[in-house]
Amino acid sequence: MREYGMKAQESQVMKKVVCNCCGKEIPQIREGIWADYFHAEKAWGYLSAQDGRQDSFDLCEDCYKKMVNAFKIPLQ
Ligand SMILES: [Zn+2]
Repeated sequence: MREYGMKAQESQVMKKVVCNCCGKEIPQIREGIWADYFHAEKAWGYLSAQDGRQDSFDLCEDCYKKMVNAFKIPLQ
């Protein structure tokens, strides 16, 4: 026989977002909702010199614009 009870579960809640480039905090509009920002995640694969590495970063809109404006080929 098994008897089950209730147990409070902990979960991760994002509390703030900071731009990796300039260090500016992304404004939180209301609980759980932030001004728009760019988020990237990359898991490097076997044929990469960075094999096994997982990177992630966030950029505010200004830093995102600076990054894409530096591209040789513009965004479409
Ligand atoms: Zn920034």
